[in-house]
Order: sequence, then structure tokens, then C-alpha cells
Amino acid sequence: MLNIALFGPPGAGKGTQSEFLIKKYNLFYISTGGLLRKEIANGTRLGLEAQSIIAAGGLVSDEIIVQIIENTITGNPTAHGFLFDGFPRTYVQAYILEGLMLKLNTSLTCLISLDVPEEESVCRLLRRGATSGRSDDSDAVIRNRLREYKQKTLPVLQFFKDRGLYREVDGTLPIDAVGERIDAFLTDELRKRLFNVVLFGYPGSGRGSQGRALAKTHGLEYVATGTMLDEEIRRGTEIGKRVTALYESGELVPDEIVVQLIEQRLAASNGVKGFIFKGYPRTHVQSYILDALLKKHESSISRIIELEVPMLELIARLDARSKTPRSMPYDSSTAKIVRRLQDHETKTLPVIAKYSQRHEVVRIDGTGTFDDVYSRLSAVVEDGLRRLR
Ligand code: AMP
Repeated sequence: MLNIALFGPPGAGKGTQSEFLIKKYNLFYISTGGLLRKEIANGTRLGLEAQSIIAAGGLVSDEIIVQIIENTITGNPTAHGFLFDGFPRTYVQAYILEGLMLKLNTSLTCLISLDVPEEESVCRLLRRGATSGRSDDSDAVIRNRLREYKQKTLPVLQFFKDRGLYREVDGTLPIDAVGERIDAFLTDELRKRLFNVVLFGYPGSGRGSQGRALAKTHGLEYVATGTMLDEEIRRGTEIGKRVTALYESGELVPDEIVVQLIEQRLAASNGVKGFIFKGYPRTHVQSYILDALLKKHESSISRIIELEVPMLELIARLDARSKTPRSMPYDSSTAKIVRRLQDHETKTLPVIAKYSQRHEVVRIDGTGTFDDVYSRLSAVVEDGLRRLR
């Protein structure tokens, strides 16, 4: 989700720039001033409370603002992102915004401040007052609005500077030039953003072949820890030698080794749109590790998908594979196949259950032809990529 707050003194051009941003980035527009004017027009309780304050150029109480914002946000659960105009206007509202974003499992992308000197702001508002019909666009009220802005609203900037979310644009430039600069910030934000999928499923559910195909089509990097370990062995690296010894003695590969491999992989993947993780995380410990590894890249898990295939079909598929050249060393006996299925059940299913408390786990029917399953999965990935933008 792209969530932006447009900031600036009254008359800075927030409304004008918003029109272009909501169209280009498919954002849901929230102007607290606009919402308040609607409440007033509808004669609601909140509107009546706010009316005289707005007329005098003061700031409406944070209590009223939190109510109208919350109603609007919760009334639009499918929004792809929000554009806030005229909010937050106080330090308390900055905290409110942070809390609202957390509730939606998202965060503010950035606050864009349109920098306009006071005299310019007054001129613009007086000019607007001639045609806008807004009672608060008169000289005395404008002065009061600017005083409120300086006293209560400007300190808000520090809140966002401290969090590295502050971006500034010279608001005295022509409208198009301001738009271009804002656009450049947002394009940059989007470029940094990764789309990360965790693909769960029992062995034999098709995670590998589907994961590879999905990654190829959608410009994502396929990260399969098992394959990465095999690759180390094949290349005879130090890690590969250690892994071979562990495999031979029947021991599990310690997390330290896998962490190093994923870390290297993430670091070497500059410019990718995101990752598809297959076979990782398999344990609770690994789920913490993955969160931390992604956090290091200012990222997180975007989608969790579980491929569902009935047990008897899984056994039939793994048994069939063991008789083909695609057979993996761990397909070679029934005992090994059963052990892998059991491992998934005892260690990984609880991880999925834990994830489903915090994330939506999308369950996809893994039966049918490869293309059937692929198109089901691909739709989920496409939808996720679209929402990221
Ligand atoms: P605007 O349309 O954003 O210029 O807002 C018009 C008026 O509505 C402001 O002068 C305030 O009185 C009130 N208002 C709008 N947004 C807020 C807010 N976030 N906090 C407090 N008052 C607000």
C-alpha cells in the first residue's frame, strides 16, 4: 500500500496536487477539511461541533478528527492506499495516523511537505476566497489559520523527520513542476519496495515447479533453500562441504548456515521486484529469522500462500517422481517420503497456523493440471503486485 500525507500551509496546493496523485496511484483521498465540511452540510453532531471552530480559523479537536478519519478508513477496507490532505495537523494526530496505519497492517510511506512562504499562502487564499465560497478564506480567518499552522501544525514535521519519512517540495514552483517532484519521490519509494511471497505446501504439492514459474513470469527471485544447499554441495564450497558431512551423518543443517545463504542471496539481488520463498521458513525459529532478514531490507512478507493437495495424491505424486529422472535423493524410499511428509505436518503446519493469526494465508487448490494451479497462484501474485503499487 502506498500511504501518503500531503502537508503544507493552507493554500499550498495540497488539494490541486491530490487530484493528480489519486488518479495516478489509485489512492483513496481523505481530506479532513472536506470531510468536516460534509459533516457541517449534513448537520451532523460532529459537524455542529466543528462549525464555529472552522469559521474562526481554529483547529477542530483531535477527538473529532479521529472519529471522522476512522469512520472513513474502516468504511473503505479494499482501498489500495490512502492520500491524506490536511491530516495530521497536530502532534497528537501524527500518533493517531501511526496507530491507524498499524491497525491496517501497513505504514505511512512518506509525508510530502509543500513549502510555501506565508505571504504567498495569504495571497493564494484571498484569490481562492473570491470564488471558493469558503467562509474561512477571508483575511482575518486566513491569518488565524496560518497562526494555528505555525503553532500547532509545523511541529508535526519533526515527528516525520525523526522517522525518516519527511520529503520536501518547493510549493512555489508551477503546478506541473510540483507534481513532477512529488511523482519522483513516489516512484523512488515504489522502486525500493519488494513483493515477498512465502509459498507453503506439503512436499509434492508443486511448490517448486510453480514457484519457479511464478518467479519467472512476475520478475521475482525464486529462493529455495534446499536447492541453494544442493548448489553449495555441487560447487564444493566450504558451506557445501559442511552440509555434505551433515547430510551423511543424518543431522539437520543448522539455521546459521541457511541464514548466511539467504542473506547473501538477498544482498546480491539488487533491482528485483521481490522474492518467492519455497521451503523456508519451516520452523518457528526460521519464521523469526525471515522477518528479521526482510526487515534488514526495509521489507516484510507480502503474501503467504498454502498449496493444498490431498495426502493420497501427494504420496502418489512423490512415488511417481521417485521413478523418474526428476527423482530427488529424498524421494528414494517410502520411509524417506513419509518422514518428509511428517516433518511438514509436525514442524511447518504450526508455523502456518501461527502466521494465520497475523497475516491472511491464501489457500490455493493444488489439484488439477499444472496450468490450472498456475493460473490460480498467478492471480494471487498479480493482485498483490497491483496492491503494492
Ligand atoms: P482544509 O480544507 O484542510 O483547509 O481545512 C479547513 C478547516 O477544517 C481547517 O482550518 C480546520 O479548522 C479544520 N480541519 C481540517 N483538518 C483538520 C485537522 N486535521 N485537525 C484539525 N482541524 C482540521
